[in-house]
Amino acid sequence: MRKVYMDYAATTYVKKEVLEEMMPYFTEKFGNPSSFYSISRETKIALDEARSRVAKALNCLSSEVYFTGGGSEADNWAIKGIASANKEKGNHIITTKIEHHAVLHTCEFLEKHGFEVTYLNVDKEGFVNLEELKNSITDKTILVSIMFANNEIGTIQPIKEIGSICREKGVIFHTDAVQALGNVKIDVQDMNIDLLSLAGHKIYGPKGVGALYIRKGIKIDNLIHGGGQERARRAGTENTASIVGLGKAVELAMENLEEHSKHLVKLRDKLIDGLLKIPNTKLNGPIGDRRLPGNVNVVFEYVKGDSIILNLDFAGICASSGSACTSGSLNPSHVLLAIGLPKASAEGSLRLTLGDDSTEEDVDIVLEVLPPIIERIRGASSPWREKL
Ligand SMILES: *Cc1c(COP(=O)(O)O)cnc(C)c1O
Repeated sequence: MRKVYMDYAATTYVKKEVLEEMMPYFTEKFGNPSSFYSISRETKIALDEARSRVAKALNCLSSEVYFTGGGSEADNWAIKGIASANKEKGNHIITTKIEHHAVLHTCEFLEKHGFEVTYLNVDKEGFVNLEELKNSITDKTILVSIMFANNEIGTIQPIKEIGSICREKGVIFHTDAVQALGNVKIDVQDMNIDLLSLAGHKIYGPKGVGALYIRKGIKIDNLIHGGGQERARRAGTENTASIVGLGKAVELAMENLEEHSKHLVKLRDKLIDGLLKIPNTKLNGPIGDRRLPGNVNVVFEYVKGDSIILNLDFAGICASSGSACTSGSLNPSHVLLAIGLPKASAEGSLRLTLGDDSTEEDVDIVLEVLPPIIERIRGASSPWREKL
């Protein structure tokens, strides 16, 4: 059976070129970058090279890039670090209802420690309202954290506009760009971004490595305390091999950005068109260039998402209902609820995310396999039978 992987938003494989650059750092180039002999100088240089590749992709200085143990750590550091270092100025944070749990649960944690959090609404397509954002900022607001692109429904926020509002009001702006990187152009200068999170394993790099961009002069406390690594801001012996892999993955993502997104958009739109031919099916999230190139998310009314995933798995297709972090729990996706879907519809949602290795043939297979699955599940489900 031919396997079809359509869950690239959950994670990607590591590209061959990335793995090749990483390999020597597990064996002969194992020196601790903080030590003072030749094999350590080698690893120190490799870290610098990775840092400058990331800096180039974001249009910032190398000295503004800090490596972390992934996207979740970068989000935690940005939010807790800003909260802790700026609490004299205020205790108010603004975010949205559709953030990744790495942001949402961090904000909920801070609420237990005296911070106040505004969770902005989003419209039917998942966009924040810029007027609502402006009106939510008070003289107690110390941070706005709004994701660049949503991992479930693909909404790309008007980040430049959000950045200018925050800059005008003198509020620090963090964005989780884990899904955006490699798919959308990012420029932290042009977009007035103060902090930005990214992760390796969503862009064909290794898992467990990421980075936080921190604009020079931003007041932020450390999250991980200990040794003096990362200019004394993030302790712990550097994960050299993974950092090298992250640097290479970022470089490749920048080189391929236009070709990659064009390829994905073509497959995405074909997949969406085909899926919407199935009766009682709706697209979640926006269409066109305000949607992530590789993201498809649909709701099949009168069907449970979990049973679709299971049936697709039997047919060799890897897909996701909502986000990978919520599957396994019975809660409907917070993102789908925030865009106004009723609980029952949110439970009947399916996310298919495309990547570099996706082909037209993959799309054809899904469009052949899925309609009879939906029909069969609906045949067995009572709300659908009652409707007939
Ligand atoms: C995957 C993801 C994260 C978490 O990154 P990890 O490296 O898995 O910790 C955070 N935000 C978004 C939008 C993501 O898609």
